[in-house]
Amino acid sequence: MDPFGRHVDYLRISVTDRCNERCLYCMPEGYKGWETRPDHLTAVEIVRVVRVAAGLGFRKFRLTGGEPLVRPDITGIVEQMTRITGIECVCLSTNGMKLAPLAAPLRQAGLRTINVSLDALDPALYRRITGGDVSRVLAGIRAAVAAGFERIKLNCVLMRGVNEQELWPLVLYSAEHGLPLRFIELMPLTTTDVLTEKNFLPCGEAMQLLGQKDELIPQPDRKLGHGPARYYLLKQTGALVGFIGALTNLHFCDSCNKMRLTADGKVRPCLGNHIEVDLRMALRQGADDRVLKDLLETALRLKPLEHQFRANYQPCRPMTAIGG
Ligand code: SAM
Ligand code: SF4
Repeated sequence: MDPFGRHVDYLRISVTDRCNERCLYCMPEGYKGWETRPDHLTAVEIVRVVRVAAGLGFRKFRLTGGEPLVRPDITGIVEQMTRITGIECVCLSTNGMKLAPLAAPLRQAGLRTINVSLDALDPALYRRITGGDVSRVLAGIRAAVAAGFERIKLNCVLMRGVNEQELWPLVLYSAEHGLPLRFIELMPLTTTDVLTEKNFLPCGEAMQLLGQKDELIPQPDRKLGHGPARYYLLKQTGALVGFIGALTNLHFCDSCNKMRLTADGKVRPCLGNHIEVDLRMALRQGADDRVLKDLLETALRLKPLEHQFRANYQPCRPMTAIGG
């Protein structure tokens, strides 16, 4: 429990701040502030933190980044994590570019669910937003379906003037493939520029846009995974669509159940607050598990009531290092 009575049992781990895409809202053009490889936790260090966290009652773990699939040892990390007693679920978020060849090995290693980012289906627009190739992402999704993951969710960041026209095609794709789709409001994570009136498309407005095409039936009891999305079933298409409104949902933090481990080994109790507790120093100074446990508990005690995104939050390091 954190000081506000929230049951925190979910750890999201950025395994690298590197990425093979450059999303408009995440990775500033020309970004050069990479951590060096020795800054990153090793696989052994990550697995050790996970084991200690599992001993403290953490049950759900998500590997993210940056792009977790650019780490050559990602399958081994998954495999070692899934052997740890007490862990209910190891999940992963990816942009999908390297997913096609890795889906089956990851599934075999014990990965249960996967989230794939998909901000547009139109190849030119997808490239404009991410710098990547949507056909590779779609091939990755097909491979993930074939590999038999328990759940595959699609994530789309809402951007006014950029991808509104893609929301409905994405809903149709989600319905056709039976994959839940979540729309995410922009957050000022790497830079504050993204949160202008011009760019910000609130979930409520996205719902109105979809409501012109189909009826949205609220699914208040639907929980898919461990996140804060509010789900709706689209009556005609049958798509299951979630909305993650970190900015406009004033109750967003009420049921927050997570902390983050940054690529360089800091525990971050809240995405939208700069508080961090350094585990890497302890790991590299030979601290025993009790010290790591104390540090994780300290981070939990420091977990704030809510994020500061509505309070002129100024990012101090990129989302890729913190772990989206
Ligand atoms: N590279 C992987 C991917 O793109 O799915 C995992 C890391 S990424 C940082 C995790 C999620 O954060 C993605 O769904 C991405 O769209 C989202 N994200 C990144 N920057 C964001 C921002 N400024 N606002 C809202 N969501 C953001
Ligand atoms: Fe890379 Fe994911 Fe960030 Fe896009 S959202 S730049 S794919 S880490």
